[in-house]
Amino acid sequence: MHPDCERILIPEVEIRAKVVELGRRISKDYAGKELLMIGILKGAMIFLADLVREISVPTRYDFMAVSSYGASSKSSGKVRILKDLACGVEGRHIIIVEDIVDTGLTLNYLAENLNSRDPASVKICTLLDKPSRRIKPVEICYKGFVIPDEFVVGYGLDYSERYRNLPCIMVLNPKVYMNKGE
Ligand code: 5GP
Repeated sequence: MHPDCERILIPEVEIRAKVVELGRRISKDYAGKELLMIGILKGAMIFLADLVREISVPTRYDFMAVSSYGASSKSSGKVRILKDLACGVEGRHIIIVEDIVDTGLTLNYLAENLNSRDPASVKICTLLDKPSRRIKPVEICYKGFVIPDEFVVGYGLDYSERYRNLPCIMVLNPKVYMNKGE
């Protein structure tokens, strides 16, 4: 285990099994259709990379980047698009792929934004859900794990750009982000 982490919340093997299960469900739900998966950078990159390989329907993917927590472990509350899609979404079946839904501000904004571009459909897939902190409602169609209100890192999730490469989801030791004025 990483020395900055308090404990392992979701081991690698459980993530793997969940990704396979979600991939199967998505493939079944979108049978006969073509999918556009939209990964939200940078956190969802590893989840998206694993998930698309478990999907058997024709799938393309693209990325968006939105303003996030920066070096802080608390939400700023504002959402801003930093990088938009390279492709059009009109008439396409979209699944937004996110690492974690926390306050819901990011996905509430993104779902509304993408819906306004005339896609055939928009659904949300997230690896993690922290429902206790929700401020804005988010309809999550594909969900990996519901987790408690703790700051987690690993499998794409960072603190100050670190820990993204850890293969499992770990609870970060609060000592790492305490006394930093964030
Ligand atoms: P929301 O807009 O739902 O509050 O926040 C979503 C974003 O907040 C996620 O994409 C992620 O970047 C960040 N976030 C929320 N909770 C955590 C957490 O426990 N750990 C990490 N590393 N990021 C989080």
